[in-house]
Amino acid sequence: MHRDPDADALGSSLGWANYLVKKGHDVTVISPTDYTANLKWMIGPDGVLVYEKATEQAKCKQKIQEATLICCLDFSALSRLKDLGKVVQDAPAPKLMIDHHLEPEHFAKWMIWDTNAAATAQLVYALIKELEADAPVRQIFDIPMAEYLYAGIMTDTGSFRHGNVTADVHLAVADLMLTGFDSSRVHRLIYDNAPLSRLQFLGYVLSQKLVVNAKYRTAYMVLTEAELQKFNSSTGETEGIVNYGLQVENVVMSAMFIERKGEIKISFRSVGSFSVRDLASAHFNGGGHKNASGGRSEQSVNETVDYFLSILPLYEQALLSVD
Ligand code: 5GP
Ligand code: MN
Repeated sequence: MHRDPDADALGSSLGWANYLVKKGHDVTVISPTDYTANLKWMIGPDGVLVYEKATEQAKCKQKIQEATLICCLDFSALSRLKDLGKVVQDAPAPKLMIDHHLEPEHFAKWMIWDTNAAATAQLVYALIKELEADAPVRQIFDIPMAEYLYAGIMTDTGSFRHGNVTADVHLAVADLMLTGFDSSRVHRLIYDNAPLSRLQFLGYVLSQKLVVNAKYRTAYMVLTEAELQKFNSSTGETEGIVNYGLQVENVVMSAMFIERKGEIKISFRSVGSFSVRDLASAHFNGGGHKNASGGRSEQSVNETVDYFLSILPLYEQALLSVD
């Protein structure tokens, strides 16, 4: 799965891993980096190895080197694996990519790649159904598998409210629900499971840091390393906050700039026809989806934000034409 994995990266990988184990395979699930506390309940058949942890790196390398098949879920460019990308690239095993992002690198022997899918978890669901000749869901999926796949679909659709929600999404979820898992509990584990400090931090960001540029229908927030340290914020505590910018009336694009370990991580969200994926890939060395993308900058926070504001006129027409 990709670095800083979200619930879809973890959920699709672990759902797939559980299925492969049921089929008698020996499976290891690896993440390039650690991930947020609200996703730690997702453990799959045997937990998740984290490549960036010094104590787990050697084992990750060994497993990848010895693998007979490497499954790459929820990313289609090896750069999204950080340092692990080279290890995967150099490994002898053929690769299977399952993904719904827009920038395929064609590093895999087999690709199940559909940018119309709302989530990689949706693709895993469909793949397993196909492999099992459409057998009834209860014969194939156990409750943890259904929970993992549901978590991926629920989060990548913004709890079923984004433009990527289709009849197929609801049909997949309805089918998974026949396993009898508690979907409300999954929602609570992910979204209503934050330390108080996260809500206090959110209050600070919304009251002090949210800037709205009405002319370009853009909201943005800038968080420096010092502010993050003040709130003792881990990676997880900024997750999802960028979405709040879209709640402001008339806003079409929301951006969040986070200074961390000497680089600026940027998150973009948009509504309707405006593509933040195009903006992130043209200007911020990033990519993702039309309405949810990300990028990075090695300039200072101020330089990065000034640059962002300077390119808005290029997108004026596209921003103003969204209804
Ligand atoms: P987030 O803002 O949640 O970090 O990222 C939103 C989406 O943007 C992710 O699902 C991912 O598809 C994409 N994304 C985030 N960061 C990057 C990046 O650095 N490069 C690329 N290509 N995509 C990214
Ligand atoms: Mn995804």
